[in-house]
Amino acid sequence: MSGDLAAFRADVRSWLAANLTDELREVSARSTSVFVDKQHTLKWQAILHKKGWVAPSWPAQYGGTGWSEAERHIFASECALAGAPPLAPMGLRMVAPAIMHYGTEAQKAQYLPRILSGEDYWCQGYSEPGSGSDLASLSLRAERDGDHYILNGSKIWTTHAHFANKMFCLVRTSREGRPQQGITFLLLDMDTPGITVRPIHSIADDHDFNQVFFEDARVPVSGRLGEEDHGWSVAKYLLEFERAVAHSAGLKAALSEIVRHTRALPAGDGGAMLDQPDIRRRISGLAAQIDAIEASEDVVMAQVARGRNPGPAASMLKIQGTETAQKVQELAVELAGDYAAVSQYAARQPGSNVEAIGPEVALTAVARYFNGRAASIYGGSNEIQRNIIAKMVLGL
Ligand SMILES: Cc1cc2nc3c(=O)[nH]c(=O)nc-3n(C[C@H](O)[C@H](O)[C@H](O)COP(=O)(O)OP(=O)(O)OC[C@H]3O[C@@H](n4cnc5c(N)ncnc54)[C@H](O)[C@@H]3O)c2cc1C
Repeated sequence: MSGDLAAFRADVRSWLAANLTDELREVSARSTSVFVDKQHTLKWQAILHKKGWVAPSWPAQYGGTGWSEAERHIFASECALAGAPPLAPMGLRMVAPAIMHYGTEAQKAQYLPRILSGEDYWCQGYSEPGSGSDLASLSLRAERDGDHYILNGSKIWTTHAHFANKMFCLVRTSREGRPQQGITFLLLDMDTPGITVRPIHSIADDHDFNQVFFEDARVPVSGRLGEEDHGWSVAKYLLEFERAVAHSAGLKAALSEIVRHTRALPAGDGGAMLDQPDIRRRISGLAAQIDAIEASEDVVMAQVARGRNPGPAASMLKIQGTETAQKVQELAVELAGDYAAVSQYAARQPGSNVEAIGPEVALTAVARYFNGRAASIYGGSNEIQRNIIAKMVLGL
């Protein structure tokens, strides 16, 4: 590593040591679902925003850091190693690139600064009860009435809709032609009369997602991103950014936690779990896999930083990143042993005075395992990603 990069790493590390609070570290260590709650996400976002480090992958003209690819990578790794909570991606990483690419100057000025500061908290209204993998079949109806669309229908699995004040949403404005042709992309306010959010609880007891109902909800036409009936290209563009997540930093941090646990756990023969050949083999295999993911991410992220969309490589990264994470989560459950059977929901809540049971790994292992199953489903299931690779890369 060049001296400049080593100095950059040292700067980031000392800034994190001074600014990542114990409360945020604890929330992150105990969090078991895809995101931490809004209150803590936004606390961390405000600290990063003040420093100007909230959106490393945005172009500098919109408030990005202007860092090189290597610097961005170092920053992500240091945040993961320090145990920083993840930021909610719906605004910063999903709708923001779409607004930069398809938005009018007025829309960019209206939305981007509020995404950076966290004043607007977004949710994604793509899936519907009958439309998930086959997203283009979506049917939430939007009928034009002067300067408004009137929306009727529902969205489902809408992560953090109960926290969000904004939604980016795909609606059906026409049934002419192919299903993809009559879709429009709207940016809307969640407090619009006629919108109701109902919770759905996950298998791990968490409340992350919801069903959202629209009954004659009036949304201004000025919230449309791109042209009417041409929202499908905006939707696909955004999905590439949703999938092109950098997994390796989080995976490395998760694996180093596993190593820490295996070092502390007795193996029964007087040694530590880490000394068991099977455990060593699995940890080494995962470490090699994570290195390979990191190398691919470098290529894709460099492309994104040059303003190009990630393309089908995003699908490959999504498959590799999520399936490796699931293997790490499986190993954690095995290490928890019999204690995996104990529900520790109360003990793992931040600030809880309920005592945890069993080895430290047991506190979060099972809930992370359950919630981690979702990663190969959301953002387009891994089967669908394999279809994309088959079509776009292999020409099948
Ligand atoms: C935790 C979580 C959070 C989510 N958050 C959001 C959100 O915020 N906003 C949002 O809009 N959506 C969200 N989703 C929904 C997610 O995008 C959908 O679940 C996903 O697209 C799959 O759709 P589906 O659930 O309708 O499954 P289906 O499409 O019914 O698929 C069922 C199974 O069939 C397989 N399958 C379907 N079609 C094919 C095919 N052509 N070839 C091979 N296999 C196929 C799938 O891979 C899957 O295994 C979330 C989902 C989860 C689990």
